[in-house]
Amino acid sequence: MTADALPLFDLARRWSSEREAALATFERIAAAGAFSLGEDLAAFEAEFATFCGSAHCVGVANGTVAIELALRACGAGPGSEVVTVAHTFVATVEAIAATGATPVLVDIDAATRTVDPAALEAALGPRTAAVVPVHLYGRPAGIDAIRAVCGPRGVAVVEDAAQAHGARLGELRTGALGTVGCFSFYPTKNLGAMGDGGAVTTDDDDIAALVRSLRHHGSAPGDANRHEHPGGTERLDNLQAALLRLRLRLLDDDNAQRAAIAECYRSRLAGLPLTLPPEDAPGMSSAHHLFVIETDDRDALRARLAKDGIATGVHYPTPVHLQPGWRHLGYAPGDLPKSERAARRVLSLPIFPHMELAEVERVCAAVERALVEVVG
Ligand SMILES: *Cc1c(COP(=O)(O)O)cnc(C)c1O
Repeated sequence: MTADALPLFDLARRWSSEREAALATFERIAAAGAFSLGEDLAAFEAEFATFCGSAHCVGVANGTVAIELALRACGAGPGSEVVTVAHTFVATVEAIAATGATPVLVDIDAATRTVDPAALEAALGPRTAAVVPVHLYGRPAGIDAIRAVCGPRGVAVVEDAAQAHGARLGELRTGALGTVGCFSFYPTKNLGAMGDGGAVTTDDDDIAALVRSLRHHGSAPGDANRHEHPGGTERLDNLQAALLRLRLRLLDDDNAQRAAIAECYRSRLAGLPLTLPPEDAPGMSSAHHLFVIETDDRDALRARLAKDGIATGVHYPTPVHLQPGWRHLGYAPGDLPKSERAARRVLSLPIFPHMELAEVERVCAAVERALVEVVG
């Protein structure tokens, strides 16, 4: 192989430009010994709430816990149901199950790869406590239709925005589209930490206060020894929050770079025998977390690109309703045909801020060559 390997995400490229500021921040926090519930956490929460256009932000340990605590604060628990999609990262469903509620899985819209509002409506029942639309691959789910279905029934909308930091729908950002927004700061996300982290955003004072309490052993505000709820150790670390403050300032620029890369892919790959990701709807700007093409020859194309040193991903090869750990939910192959078809066809191409246009061109040329071999 002649060319260097191209990864799906290159997380190390950022370091040289942020090194000085990050090390100074770590030094300051280490010298103060301020590792838990510190000033940087409070400052990050205020800044991320403002960024999202929400009244509140509560930093938590990871994205899965963000969804779990948000759902609990919306009343999900044993005896209730929470509706989401099967075409998502398994964490969405794990978080629902962790509350004690029963996950109800519905199909996606084949074009947008986000929840089909008609399927969502059909799944709502008297026990539905909440729905979790997933802004998969960075594209906001169709929130107007979701709100129209959930609003009149009093069903909470808990956004899984783990792949969509900074995406916009009209005037609003993700995190402010539903009742509650849930974010992950896992290193590969659009806003990533050096480890795990997450956040919950909301305009609702009571939900924010309850999540704040649950993340810290159910403690009462101002009285850490009074435990009002069964909570846990689910805080966002002060060090991660401090780093996230630095990176939040870059997020809009990062997302603009991702959009430019996506546009480059889109124009260069147009006309080839594959399905491109949907374009943004009017007024929408996706966070372009992943650039996910679809083809029936996915596995052959993937293997051919790997030979050229180009890493790709499959998000996700098996929908949650067909995963062995979730068999007890009682679904069978064929139950969610659009999710199952997407799982067979999706292929994620490299996309990350600092990816060079020459690298995008290299991927496109390799895809074009590979398709000639694979499809003929
Ligand atoms: C990453 C991710 C999560 C979970 O986040 P963690 O921080 O890894 O717990 C949940 N949902 C989706 C769609 C994700 O991509």
